[in-house]
Amino acid sequence: MKITDIKTADARIKIDGHPRYRYHYVRVYTDEGVYGTGETSHVDSGWRDTTHDMARMIIGQDPRDVDACFELIRRAYIFRGGLAGAGISALTGIEIALWDLAGKAQSVPVYRLLGGKFRHRIRLYVDSAHTDYQQRAEEVQERGFTAIKFDLDDANHPHKLDRWNWSVTPDELKSLVDQAFAIRQGIGSSLDLALDLHGRYDATAGMKMAQALEPLNLMWLEEPVPPENIDALNKITQSTSTPICVGENLYLRYGFRDLLEKQAADIIMPDISKCGGLSECRKIANMAEIYYIPFAPHNNSSALSTVADAHVCASVPNFLALEFHRFNDPTWEQVVDSDGAVIQDGHVVLTDKPGLGVELNEDFLSAQLEAGESLWH
Ligand code: MG
Repeated sequence: MKITDIKTADARIKIDGHPRYRYHYVRVYTDEGVYGTGETSHVDSGWRDTTHDMARMIIGQDPRDVDACFELIRRAYIFRGGLAGAGISALTGIEIALWDLAGKAQSVPVYRLLGGKFRHRIRLYVDSAHTDYQQRAEEVQERGFTAIKFDLDDANHPHKLDRWNWSVTPDELKSLVDQAFAIRQGIGSSLDLALDLHGRYDATAGMKMAQALEPLNLMWLEEPVPPENIDALNKITQSTSTPICVGENLYLRYGFRDLLEKQAADIIMPDISKCGGLSECRKIANMAEIYYIPFAPHNNSSALSTVADAHVCASVPNFLALEFHRFNDPTWEQVVDSDGAVIQDGHVVLTDKPGLGVELNEDFLSAQLEAGESLWH
């Protein structure tokens, strides 16, 4: 079996006639007719060109040699984005498509090729940003979810010193901590609760907040400081009993090595459709496992990539929860064709279908395009 072509689709999902969500898909074709589909996230407008440039390198290769195809491209890109960033994200989309293809070619679900499953129901947590916490907590529980996340940071807080300074003033700290306590009280003690700070604070501010939130029994506090300095993060993690979670802007195993060796975080959240793909993230989760660190992937992607993520989450023991961003988006399930709903009772339910187990709903995606536009290029 040989790879013959790779195409990309830039899907723009409309809500009430206006473009709202944008998803980036990759399809790998073979000389035996079987194809695989992947998705990447957090890429810029150069993603399409980069993906097609990368694709040229693996035309003629056996797509079932997923890791070798990945490494062939990554090593060639060391001088131009092979370490981190949008280059790795483009490569990630190809990697996921290769896994879908490898599964279909061998008539097994992808998790079988990743070592088999520890579970087939993958627990989701609902990213709820700044929504009304009480109402959202009731809605998510009614629909079977057991974990939720809210944003706590406020870049435009009226008590901030200025927009560039990352310290926290006494009034700002008090209002953020009061807000966190109100959230916990409002949602009750049973839901697992995470709060996100988006790396908007300095080390002292991050430490003050993590310590002040200790009574709330958080599932985690996310990114109290920006992701570049592991030692500064480590200072916070060691200073508090609040679990600290980071990793949505780190790439590849190499990006997590320092973090894990220093145990500078209590939980890690690689973005599987951005930071290297299914094989790489399984390895990252395995690295975390030897420090007894749970794996709770970041995810802002469509249903296709969320299902791809679920295969990795199924294949590692230390999985905690997978992010779900589109709680009230009626188009989320429509993007794919699947056997039954992708999300059932707050979980992605994996099937025994070969490959990822879902296919893009191309009629739906094509209907979102402008007249005369085609989906795949
Ligand atoms: Mg975050």
